[in-house]
Amino acid sequence: MNILIFGPNGSGKGTQGAIIQKKYGVPHIETGVIFRQNISKKTPLGEKAKAFIDCGELVPDDITIPMILDRLREDDCKKGWLLDGFPRNLAQAEALWAALEKEKIKLDYVTEIDLDRETAKKRIMGRRLCKMDNNHPNNIYIDAIKPIEKNGKMVCRVCGCEELSTRADDQDTAAIDKRHGIYYDTQTGTLAAVNFFKKRTKVISVDGSVSVKEVTEELLKKLK
Ligand code: AMP
Repeated sequence: MNILIFGPNGSGKGTQGAIIQKKYGVPHIETGVIFRQNISKKTPLGEKAKAFIDCGELVPDDITIPMILDRLREDDCKKGWLLDGFPRNLAQAEALWAALEKEKIKLDYVTEIDLDRETAKKRIMGRRLCKMDNNHPNNIYIDAIKPIEKNGKMVCRVCGCEELSTRADDQDTAAIDKRHGIYYDTQTGTLAAVNFFKKRTKVISVDGSVSVKEVTEELLKKLK
């Protein structure tokens, strides 16, 4: 099963992506995570990507496109993949489509979480990272995943870890605006990529403004 998931930063794409991954048992490939791992390991790729990521700009296509196409050729992707955070612009969508056609790989589902820009921004700023596990969802602005209060302190709602932090680019409003500017751009940005797929295949859209549980239910119903 080969799946793409679109949605602005803050739409719950990571949370829903983890649920889709579980359903189909395919690797969840998140471009942002790959970059951040390379930055923390101080690899040459990480060093090149860091400056762009810090200010919310896209890492250039000549770095990102081959990185992702190579990742999709790895062994664990033979059973399928869930691609999250790529394509992020029209050029990446065209490159992915051409590579899939050339390698005769079928795209089974293209999914999109719809969310308005203001709500997405608020949710990004509310995101909290658990030191024990980055996949423990915590957000001070979303009731369903609000951290728990313990002795006047917010702790991880999953494991109780007392060290909750924020991602630097999540608290920088200029960086958020830049990231959202790219997402909501229908000319060459991510919505242009979504429209590219809408012209070629069916795109499953779900309303991201409702609760996490409701988004999951709608998504799973439509994915079959
Ligand atoms: P994310 O974790 O998805 O918010 O991504 C964090 C950052 O990684 C983005 O703001 C970009 O700088 C970079 N990035 C992620 N995906 C891509 C992509 N498909 N193309 C270029 N840069 C990307």
